[in-house]
Amino acid sequence: MATSPDHAVVLGAGMSGLFTARVLAQHFRRVTVVERDATPTDDGPRRGIPQGHHPHGLLLKASDLFDSLFPGIIAECAEHGAVRANVLTQHRVYIYGHELRQTEIGRETVLLSRPLLEHRVAERVRALPNVTVRRGWEAVGLLTTGGYRVTGVTVGRSGSGEREDLAADLVVDATGRSGRARAWLRTLGYPEPAEQRVPVGISYATRLYELPPDVLGNDRLVSVSPQPAHPRGIAFVSRENHRWSLSLYGYGDHRPTADPDEFAAGIAELAPEYVLKALARGTAVSDIQVMQYPAGIRRRYDRLDRFPEGFLVTGDALCSVNPVYGSGMTIAAAQARELGRQLRGGTHGLWRRYFRAAARITAPAWQFAVMGDAPLAGTSRLRQPGVVLGSAYMRRMARAAETDQEAAGALMRVVGMDRSPAHLFRPRLLASALRGGRPRG
Ligand SMILES: Cc1cc2nc3c(=O)[nH]c(=O)nc-3n(C[C@H](O)[C@H](O)[C@H](O)COP(=O)(O)OP(=O)(O)OC[C@H]3O[C@@H](n4cnc5c(N)ncnc54)[C@H](O)[C@@H]3O)c2cc1C
Repeated sequence: MATSPDHAVVLGAGMSGLFTARVLAQHFRRVTVVERDATPTDDGPRRGIPQGHHPHGLLLKASDLFDSLFPGIIAECAEHGAVRANVLTQHRVYIYGHELRQTEIGRETVLLSRPLLEHRVAERVRALPNVTVRRGWEAVGLLTTGGYRVTGVTVGRSGSGEREDLAADLVVDATGRSGRARAWLRTLGYPEPAEQRVPVGISYATRLYELPPDVLGNDRLVSVSPQPAHPRGIAFVSRENHRWSLSLYGYGDHRPTADPDEFAAGIAELAPEYVLKALARGTAVSDIQVMQYPAGIRRRYDRLDRFPEGFLVTGDALCSVNPVYGSGMTIAAAQARELGRQLRGGTHGLWRRYFRAAARITAPAWQFAVMGDAPLAGTSRLRQPGVVLGSAYMRRMARAAETDQEAAGALMRVVGMDRSPAHLFRPRLLASALRGGRPRG
């Protein structure tokens, strides 16, 4: 096997693999991305990304992060049909039954399908002169010398017996939540990271609609989040080609199905009247796609004492937060950017520095989801005092945000990962939450 200095290999060309490749291209002479799916995302979801049928919202923080990795990518998505929307004046958000006051917070986002977003990002990566994307190949195991350093990866052509060893100075696993890094580490004699699981048992059912323009007036997104007595929610989101995606999701036994009558009944139970009227003026243009998401998973690589040099894990393979909170792609982009920062300090000991920094990125999103899920997921594991208290405070804050513009804006910023959850505990907001948003005096 030929040695290949300055070569990095990224496993998986999902969003985190693509972001990672972008960053590594600045630090390595060559970058190879190995993706199991033979065909790229073009105008429809692909096999390796079943979540591509379901809405993929960009959090407030995502637009800045994406633009920092791929300058102009948000505007480019809009040129390709993504819908520009002002955050909160064009969003109608109901949390725990409280409609957040529509407020100008001076931020814009784009609404689009996951395939459109992935396609635009993949095209940017494809245009990088030192990056090669090998589709139709899958990672099957790591290569090492003496076990203390990963020196490459064995890949196999999907659906055939053909194998090849790729030498690399750095291998990054971005193969998603079902990634096999833990098993690979075990084979090399390394300890596996502890795994935290939050068994949320979320199920999604999503259907696409064609609706007349401006059928919801100025609104471009309607989100009704679940309540403890009825842990089901809906997301109704505008996207390219005058289409809207309508999702019904539920925790545990409240799972929606692909049956059109059941789907319509579930929507009718939750959607505000004006959404139902808009739907009546539109046409369903797809089947109902269903997907299950059993549990949030956080793998604590940051707590390991021993780990091989030359190997990292990122994206959902590292931490997969309940998708209801829409944080996965933002976390993936933030981790990739952090990897770039850590690489400025060289590759020696990179794993320890990177995993610790990545854990600091995921922690607020993970905690926020745990707090939100506590009253919904019906699992005793979430009923710790701190979690229950935080969750009760969130409900108060949502009530305050019905009338208090600052509370509404703060909630959107925290949900959007633009501010840490501590932002909600500033004295002015604390007082408002305790008063339930009613004016003073
Ligand atoms: C229903 C649902 C809705 C979601 N909604 C949102 C949202 O609104 N906003 C948001 O930010 N995030 C959302 N997410 C999360 C988001 O999709 C992911 O967090 C994000 O895309 C990062 O994923 P990833 O790239 O790490 O992994 P994945 O998206 O799983 O990608 C992994 C890639 O690796 C490939 N692969 C797997 N095994 C191998 C192998 N052995 N060799 C080579 N390639 C391999 C796969 O084919 C795939 O392309 C949602 C997720 C779900 C399930």
